[in-house]
Amino acid sequence: MALRYFSSPMPTALITGITGQDGSYLTEQLLDQGYTVHGLVRRTSNTVRSRLDPLFHNKDVYNKNLFLHYADLDDTTTIRRILVKTQPDELYHLAGQSHVGASFDIPESTCQFTAMGTLKILEILRDLEKQPRFLHISSSEIFGRPDESPQNEHTPMRPVTPYGVAKTFATQMVQLYRESFGLFACNAICYNHESPRRGESFVTRKITKAAAEISLGLSDEIVLGSLDGRRDWGSAPEYTTAMHLMLQQDAPDDYVLATGQTHSVEEFLDAAFRSVGLDYQDHLQQNPKYMRPAEVTRLVGDPTHAKKQLGWTPATTALDLAKQMTAADVESLKRLAAS
Ligand code: GDP
Repeated sequence: MALRYFSSPMPTALITGITGQDGSYLTEQLLDQGYTVHGLVRRTSNTVRSRLDPLFHNKDVYNKNLFLHYADLDDTTTIRRILVKTQPDELYHLAGQSHVGASFDIPESTCQFTAMGTLKILEILRDLEKQPRFLHISSSEIFGRPDESPQNEHTPMRPVTPYGVAKTFATQMVQLYRESFGLFACNAICYNHESPRRGESFVTRKITKAAAEISLGLSDEIVLGSLDGRRDWGSAPEYTTAMHLMLQQDAPDDYVLATGQTHSVEEFLDAAFRSVGLDYQDHLQQNPKYMRPAEVTRLVGDPTHAKKQLGWTPATTALDLAKQMTAADVESLKRLAAS
């Protein structure tokens, strides 16, 4: 069946990394606003699509307003073909190896996908007749160990992790293509953003899942690395809302997306366990396996530019997230047990 991509007068978006946490929220938000959404998925991976399951199984949505295309980030011919075929108005580049800890084990592929993958897309856009507005999801990891706190869009980049180095390359290339080739290209410099859809290897979700399991008697301990790290944790769907706003402005720019507040891993752990009536100290084991060769410090973002220009305000705090995510994990474990 030939799919009709151009039937809608509403804008069309293409999302790389559509199956991830941010991709799934952004897809829902864009579909709600009447967009046609195309997503790139890796053919070779056994990609987990559970975050988009309700949309895939909705006959009124899948292959009507939401389309998936197979393409790896280094497959430039296929990506170009998809861009020409789908003619998106907006391109959200969210894909890449997103785990900072893992980037120490797989630095080469982290750079291949996160750094070179972004450059390859920029190169394709440069040649297109109809250039979509482009958003790259950058990261607070570009600041590494900054001299100033909080960080804003003008803070020098000093990454200390392979992931941070790769994101720095990609972020600067986006700036270069904006300034040198006139692309409408923006960096969303995102501090950690969490949700019940966060991958289970990230510390927040690992904690909330363990709190839920222990509270239901399914487990008795949680094994973590250092509890001292502090993060500026915000809410993922609020950050994807800001990403969309960034592409609706008159001119392209970079924006820090952050709450401006930090909490330690220990505070998050305490809040999650407390929310289900537990004391984490009764269940915690620590293992050097989960400790990093290098840790970022003093990372806290200043979202003033996003607040002023986009009218965006982050509303959910890290401690709200600890409670919400634990409650969501309790619910999903109960549903699983009942099914
Ligand atoms: P990111 O490193 O900021 O991308 O986010 P993570 O959620 O992976 O880690 C946040 C903080 O939690 C870091 O300071 C980690 O060192 C710390 N941490 C402590 N134990 C763990 C663990 O078991 N897994 C992970 N992922 N992080 C841990």
